[in-house]
Amino acid sequence: MMRHEAAVKIGFHISIAGGFDKAHEEAKRLRCDVVQIFVKNPRSWAEKLWRDEDVEAFRGLSSHIPVFAHLSYLPNLAKIDEDERNMKGFAHEAGLCRRLGIPSIVVHCGSREKKEKGIAMAARAVNEVLAKFDIQVLLENASGQGASLGRNIPELTKIYEQIERKEKAFLCLDTAHLFQSGYDIRQKKVWNGLIDEIGETIGKEKVAFFHLNDSSTGAGSRVDRHWHIGKGELGIEFFRLLLNDKRFAHLAGVMETPKMGKMDIRNMKVMRSLLSPLMSRSSS
Ligand SMILES: [Zn+2]
Ligand SMILES: [Zn+2]
Repeated sequence: MMRHEAAVKIGFHISIAGGFDKAHEEAKRLRCDVVQIFVKNPRSWAEKLWRDEDVEAFRGLSSHIPVFAHLSYLPNLAKIDEDERNMKGFAHEAGLCRRLGIPSIVVHCGSREKKEKGIAMAARAVNEVLAKFDIQVLLENASGQGASLGRNIPELTKIYEQIERKEKAFLCLDTAHLFQSGYDIRQKKVWNGLIDEIGETIGKEKVAFFHLNDSSTGAGSRVDRHWHIGKGELGIEFFRLLLNDKRFAHLAGVMETPKMGKMDIRNMKVMRSLLSPLMSRSSS
């Protein structure tokens, strides 16, 4: 069987609603080198209990394809002092990752009008989880919509600085959110400036994962709308730049583009077409 083995790993966020066997089929159908999942229903506070047979089915997926988790939508890490469900929910999902053997979880930094307080709470939430669970936490940059925190490198740096176990803390860069929050990364000098900024603060080596999304809203819009690769405002040339950027030659990233008919297949095709032969290798 021919197998495309890219040095750059590209995949999708995939649903586990039909179970892990189905998710594995879907990951294969979409030719994912890597996947991201929620470890429970992202729209409910109800806790999840994975049975042994579920864990076994999950191994079927994770033994073939690296899996990253994304924290569900409800826990707001910036407000763990206002509602105890926020911290409980985060810890519960970190525990589910451990149960399944998922090494990393992507989190949003939360939202709060009182920025400094929110930043301190988000860092505390990460500290609590890292003290309890052997897991890596990936802070995702925000689009800047509403009072969302982590919308730029200085905000992410403030949170990172308050994290105690820094060896367990990393960054997940969402390309749509970068653009929406005001980094016009279509311009090469802005992209390079951003990477330099990360290098001078948190560290380039801390960029562990990407959310590879185009944006249907403009640069600096602070409105979070993901769109199909090359069909949005960010555009195809940015993705060509990123996927062939030697600083990220081993990048892993997933698309969180809208699930619309055959668009996943198309988005993956477009992504792979952008990889220069240098950045991908085929083996049979
Ligand atoms: Zn996210
Ligand atoms: Zn988003």
